[in-house]
Amino acid sequence: MPDKDLKPVWENTIKQLAQETRGDSNFWLSSLHYIKASENEIYVEASSAFVWEEIRKRFSKRIEKLLNELAGKEITILERISAQADEGGEVPLSMPQEPLHSPSKIKKNLDRPVPQFQEDYVFETFVVSEANKYAYNAAQAVAKNPSAKKNYNPLLIYGGTGLGKTHLMQGIGHYIYNNSDLKVLYITGEGFMQDFVEMVGRKKMDSEFKKKYRHVDILLIDDIHTIEKGAGTQEELFYTFEELYKKNKQMVFTCDRPISELKNMAPRLQSRFQWGLHMAIQPPDYETRVAILKNMAERYHYTVPDEVIYLISKNITSNVRDLEGALNRICEYGVLLGKSITLEIAQRELKDDLVSQRQGNLSVENIQRVTADYFHLSLNDLKGKKRSANVVRARRVAMYLVRELTELSLTEIGQEFGGKDHATVHVSCNDIENEMRINNNLYGTVQELKRMVKEYGVKGG
Ligand code: ADP
Ligand code: MG
Repeated sequence: MPDKDLKPVWENTIKQLAQETRGDSNFWLSSLHYIKASENEIYVEASSAFVWEEIRKRFSKRIEKLLNELAGKEITILERISAQADEGGEVPLSMPQEPLHSPSKIKKNLDRPVPQFQEDYVFETFVVSEANKYAYNAAQAVAKNPSAKKNYNPLLIYGGTGLGKTHLMQGIGHYIYNNSDLKVLYITGEGFMQDFVEMVGRKKMDSEFKKKYRHVDILLIDDIHTIEKGAGTQEELFYTFEELYKKNKQMVFTCDRPISELKNMAPRLQSRFQWGLHMAIQPPDYETRVAILKNMAERYHYTVPDEVIYLISKNITSNVRDLEGALNRICEYGVLLGKSITLEIAQRELKDDLVSQRQGNLSVENIQRVTADYFHLSLNDLKGKKRSANVVRARRVAMYLVRELTELSLTEIGQEFGGKDHATVHVSCNDIENEMRINNNLYGTVQELKRMVKEYGVKGG
C-alpha cells in the first residue's frame, strides 16, 4: 500500500490539537504513532487499549475534523493496539479494522452510564405534524449534531402537558446515546432538585453532585419549571449551565410554558435560557390526533376500527396523553371482554368524555352566541355578510369552533353562517388554525372560547 504522504497532515493535526488543548493532549497523543496511510485512511498504533479509548473519548471528533480540513477530504483513522500492550495481541494491519466512530467501538465504552429512558420514546414513534414540526426539526438537528451550533444551546422545548415534550427530549437522548460515545444524562427537574438537596445534606456536592452533572456531554433536564420553588437548586443549575456551556456541551430543557412566564426563576438563569433556541409544541389538530392514535394502536398491537379512532379524535382534544389514555382504556376493556372493539364499546367506555354527551346542548347557536358576545357583536352580524375586519375575524373563529366541536360538515356549517359555501368555511377554518400556531393570543382566545362554550352548554342544559 503506497503511503499517500498523509504524514505531514497527521503531524500538523497533532500539533494543532496540542495548541488548542494547551498541551492537554500531549500526554495521550505521544502514545499514538503514525504508521502508514492509503488514499483515505491513516493507520495509527496506540500503546494500549486504554490509551486508545481515552484518545477516542477526548479527541476523536476534533482529530477527524482537523484531518479532513487539512487533507481536504474525508480521512478515516484505523487503529491497532501495540503488540507490547497488556491486552490483545497484534492486529495485522491488512485486516479490516474499525473506523473511529464505528458502532462496535461505541459499545466498548462500557463505563458510560446508561440513561434512564422510556424505551419507546424515540424519534421513530413520534408523529410529526404542524403542531410540533418546528420542535421536532430542532430536536433532530441537535441529536444529529450536538453542540454544533451555539444558538441551539440550550434547546428549550415548551408546551402544555401531555403534548410530547418528554418523548421528544428522550428521542434526542436515545439518538445521541446510540450513535456516539457521548455521555448522556437525563433527569427531571424534580430529580435534579432532590439530588441537590440530598447531596448538600450529605456534604457530597463536590465529590458526587458536580461529578455527576458537570462531566457529561449532553445534559437533558425535563420539566425545568419544577425547580422554580428551589432557589438553591437554581443557583446550582446556573453554575452547572455555566460550566457545560463553556465546555460547549449540549443542553436540552423542557418547560410547561415559555421561560419568560416563570415568575420565580432567578433572572440570571432565565437569561441563560434565553441564549438558546426555544420551540413550542401546540396541541394536535384533528388530523394529527387521528395519525397519533393509528400510530399508537400499531405500537401497542391493538386492532381498532377507524371509526373508533375518529370517535376518540373528535372527542378528546386536550392532549396526546389523554388520547393515549382513552385508546388504552377502550382496548383493554375489549381484551377484558374478549371481544374486538366496536364503535358501541368505545362509546360506552368513553361516555364521560364524549363532547356531545357532556355538553348536552352544545349547538351551533350556542357557539355562535358565545363567540358573538366575546367579540361584542350581535348574533346577526356574526352570521351575516359584514366585511369589517373585526367581524370577519370573529366569524372565522366561530366557524372554526363549530368545525372543532360539532359533527357538522363544511357545507352545513356554511348554511349556519348565512349561506356561505363550503370552500369559504374551509379557508376560514384553516386560516384560524394556521394563525393559532404563531399567534399565542389567538390560541388563548380560542381555548377560552371553547371553555366558555362548554360551560354555557352545561348551564343552558
Ligand atoms: P409531555 O412531556 O409534554 O407532558 P409526553 O412526552 O409524556 O408529554 O407525551 C405523553 C404521551 O403521548 C406519551 O406516551 C408520548 O409517547 C405520547 N406522544 C406525545 N406526542 C406524540 C407524538 N407526536 N407522536 C406519538 N406519540 C406522542
Ligand atoms: Mg413530560
